[in-house]
Amino acid sequence: MQQYDPDITLITPTAPMHTGTHGGRAKCLQRLVRLDLPVPRTIALSFDAVHRIAAGEMPDMAALLAPFGEMPLLCVRPSSEDPDWGGPNAVLNIGVNDARHAVLAEKIGQRAAADIYLRFVQAYAIHVARLDPDVFEDVAQDPVQGLGEALRAYEDETDEEFPQDPGVQLGQVLRSMARAWEGTTARLLRQAKGAPADAGLGLVVQELALGIGPGESGSGVMQLVDSRTGARQITGRYLSQSQGRDALRGGEDALYLTRDPRGPSLEELAPAAFAEIRAHTLLMRETLREEMQTEFTIEDGRVWILDGIRVARNARAAVAIAVALAEDGIIPREEALMRVEPRALNELLHRQVDPEARRDVLAHGIAASPGAASGKVVFTAAEAQAAAARGEPCVLVRRETSPEDIRGMHAASAILTERGGMTSHAAVIGRGIGLPCVVGASDIRFQTRRKMLTMPDGRVVKAGETITIDGTNGAVLAGEAPLLEAARDAAFQTLMNWADDTRDIAVRANADTPADAELARNFKARGIGLCRTEHMFFEDDRLTVMREMIFADTSEDRAAVLERLLPMQRADFADLFRIMQGQPVCIRLFDPPLHEFLPTDRAGHVQLAGALDLPVSDVTRRVEALGEYNPMLGMRGVRLGITMPEIYDMQARAIFEATLEASREGEAPVVPEIMIPLVSARREVEIVKTRVDAVAAAVRGERQRDFAYRLGVMVETPRAALRAGEIAPLVSFLSFGTNDLTQMTYGLSRDDAGRFMSAYVQQGVYPEDPFHVLDTDGVGELLRIGAERGRAANPDVVLSICGEHGGNPESISFCREAGFTYVSCSPFRVPVARLAAAQLSV
Ligand code: PEP
Ligand code: MG
Repeated sequence: MQQYDPDITLITPTAPMHTGTHGGRAKCLQRLVRLDLPVPRTIALSFDAVHRIAAGEMPDMAALLAPFGEMPLLCVRPSSEDPDWGGPNAVLNIGVNDARHAVLAEKIGQRAAADIYLRFVQAYAIHVARLDPDVFEDVAQDPVQGLGEALRAYEDETDEEFPQDPGVQLGQVLRSMARAWEGTTARLLRQAKGAPADAGLGLVVQELALGIGPGESGSGVMQLVDSRTGARQITGRYLSQSQGRDALRGGEDALYLTRDPRGPSLEELAPAAFAEIRAHTLLMRETLREEMQTEFTIEDGRVWILDGIRVARNARAAVAIAVALAEDGIIPREEALMRVEPRALNELLHRQVDPEARRDVLAHGIAASPGAASGKVVFTAAEAQAAAARGEPCVLVRRETSPEDIRGMHAASAILTERGGMTSHAAVIGRGIGLPCVVGASDIRFQTRRKMLTMPDGRVVKAGETITIDGTNGAVLAGEAPLLEAARDAAFQTLMNWADDTRDIAVRANADTPADAELARNFKARGIGLCRTEHMFFEDDRLTVMREMIFADTSEDRAAVLERLLPMQRADFADLFRIMQGQPVCIRLFDPPLHEFLPTDRAGHVQLAGALDLPVSDVTRRVEALGEYNPMLGMRGVRLGITMPEIYDMQARAIFEATLEASREGEAPVVPEIMIPLVSARREVEIVKTRVDAVAAAVRGERQRDFAYRLGVMVETPRAALRAGEIAPLVSFLSFGTNDLTQMTYGLSRDDAGRFMSAYVQQGVYPEDPFHVLDTDGVGELLRIGAERGRAANPDVVLSICGEHGGNPESISFCREAGFTYVSCSPFRVPVARLAAAQLSV
């Protein structure tokens, strides 16, 4: 072997070596060599060299062995470009044979030498000769006796003597590892993790540091942080008389590293070695700019560093590690921001199923709202409320949810529905209140009358039985799965503050109630981008008044009932203004079809008839009359404002009166934003604007006080986007409601799409669920057109997005490029959006 052969190279500080040609392990070892750490002599084989070996073209083994001197003991480990892509198992102790065994026995004792030989025979048999591990089942535990038995078992199975030539041994190990990488299963596994089809494997051949032998000998791993929390704390294990990663499997015999009440430690056993390993690990952290796990061997008291691996970490630890590296001046803050995957923050914001726990999956659906919770299955909102009153966590199971279920949803720990997609009612509310939610679980048979669920594998779950909803992964699990608590710790807050200093697009929250607004403020949203006022009417006392309003025969009757709703709305808005402390609050005027507020079954009709003092038949008739074939495209949004203007008048008055109330107390005057939903024509805006202005004038006159407000339009019909040029001059802002806009652009019901969405995505009809990830081609084109035409006609118009896509990192990138001022999303998605927005500006 020539030292300058780029494909088979001794690792020196200057040898040409790259992650993309020799793999991450080889590159990392070179960095450790440059740091002058005690790394055993190592040769790296490039992707090309390994590829040729797999094809049967073996390198000159004598030349390959030459740098290791007489009778070396070696190990071979994989070195792929990305450690996540896996690779064949490492093989240790290559080079041991009868002769070497005899010499070793003299040097390190009979037992240790036999142990090393026995380990190699077994590893070679299993990984190279591909024998069944059962072949060694009866081999004695004692290595001296076991060795002879293992050699005989090998010969019996293969009809060959165990190879004695180190060149043959090494060649066979290299060939088998190279071929294992090219196998179909390995290829499919790594491709599933994002590896390209032609991903290469490098191999490193390293002189073995003997963890088995006289004096203090053993092996272990050390890292300076806890992988679950990122807290600074030396963790790892050490096992005397062991090799490789034995210490991690070492059970009770393995030592802790630092002094530990649970048992003896390496620090006590071998203080100098411990201090040296710690110093090396610290040096790696500083120079490799990463939290590393050190793989080490102590050979008769002498420390060897075999490898450094990026510390495995969950999301919480990833945040803590990135922040600590930046605070220690090792990486810049911008890099810390880039090192955390925004979506991973969900793990910190919600409880999660412990990833290490066994999962008994009953069924899958759409992961509509992240987090996990367990509870007893209930099938109605009333049962959910009853369970909450008893202090019992419950999972509310519905075919789909409707506004009537809101109180039950608040009472439940999690939601499971048969129907619906990412923007169905259950999904939107679930995300809004941080409730784990799986929707569209259509593989489950929902027998709600019989109060049971039949799972795809035939298992039945009845009311009262416990299940766990994993809204992060879209799974329904049997029983009560172990959960990890949410962890919004100091590192999280620090990272978020850095994100805010960096980003150039604001993040607001969609918040409907004071509780939502509190959340929004806690998550440091820069205001409320969408308050869906209809969500304020689902409490019992209000619902009855609302129903009276819907049943009012004349405009006067309706106005009289609205008078009673006015103080309630005024109090709601005043609360929101107070909570948001001068941040902008955008209130959307009433949007949904009125019949959503009416009971759907006869019992509900009877109850309502009692409350309104009307015959049941009247109620039933009116409910039927209000029914629509396609309510999402019917009498809702601004259409209500045009046909029943008293509702918007009441809301505008409540907003203005609350503005004056809140401004009196606060320092800066509140400037409310009023948004008109479902607009499709300029004239709609003119009509509503005239009335809102008139209400403002009336309130100013009555109170003898001035105030300002901003009126805007929600662009959520394709026509509003196309005609933005004529709408924008009338308003201060345009906010794109991409839920309805997606629904209408695709002609795809947001409440029914769940049924076929997975088939569509699987067959590549749509690259993703467009309710989840903004369709930048189609819906995005309407956004661009709306933004351009709106801005051309009114250069001051503020542009934003308030559909569910507002919390999605890819969609935020689109909105930023389109020049939007802010995105608005559910409170729990605000941190993800803040980080994603910051990453765009780094
Ligand atoms: C929208 O349509 O995008 C929107 C935000 O409004 P809603 O989801 O209430 O229809
Ligand atoms: Mg909408």
